[in-house]
Amino acid sequence: MKCPRCQAKVRSEQTTCSACGFSATLLHSYLGNQWVRLERITDAAHCLRLEDTRRIEIILDDFERSFPQAFFAIYLGALPNNLNVAELGFWLLNQGAFNTHSVSRRNDFGMVLVVDPSAQTACITLGYAIENCFSPKIITRMMQTVGSHLRKGAFGMAIEDSCIRAGEILRKHARYMQWQPEVSVMADSVSDIGLQPLRGGHRPASRPLADFPAPRS
Ligand SMILES: [Zn+2]
Repeated sequence: MKCPRCQAKVRSEQTTCSACGFSATLLHSYLGNQWVRLERITDAAHCLRLEDTRRIEIILDDFERSFPQAFFAIYLGALPNNLNVAELGFWLLNQGAFNTHSVSRRNDFGMVLVVDPSAQTACITLGYAIENCFSPKIITRMMQTVGSHLRKGAFGMAIEDSCIRAGEILRKHARYMQWQPEVSVMADSVSDIGLQPLRGGHRPASRPLADFPAPRS
């Protein structure tokens, strides 16, 4: 699997990335290892206008109706220097409890788009039960699209496009796979790098998108 900090290969017996020293313990040291409530939209950076949020809510409703066990969550915020977008995505999929009033959704069927407008980085982290639906090529294209919107300061469009695209990809794969909660994917889990999540395990399946220039104002 890949390290969420440097994307280096991490072997299953390693608890710490030999390339950059990342370990889950390090993340827990500043984010904690308690469950947090994961909202559909967390706009800590106040990037979204009211109409953006409304449009995104409609798209998320569609997504959740189509995929009752899956979720798509968005976090926009300026991260501290010791934390990157991939690490936060990784942590949120491990420690975030995503619940709607009707259904408790499983994090291994979840995906989180983390955008740091200050560092100008973004990353999509996929739950490990769905990450195989997303080839590196698909992820690269998705992040290119996200990047092109972010460069224009179009945060809402970046989110809308990535959620719609994710839905298209899952829909294609859903024809071939059973969405059974009992299905578990044990190979290559996050416990490989010393994380012991309460349920499921995840790894970032995408590279952080580095250096999108600030929108011109
Ligand atoms: Zn690393």
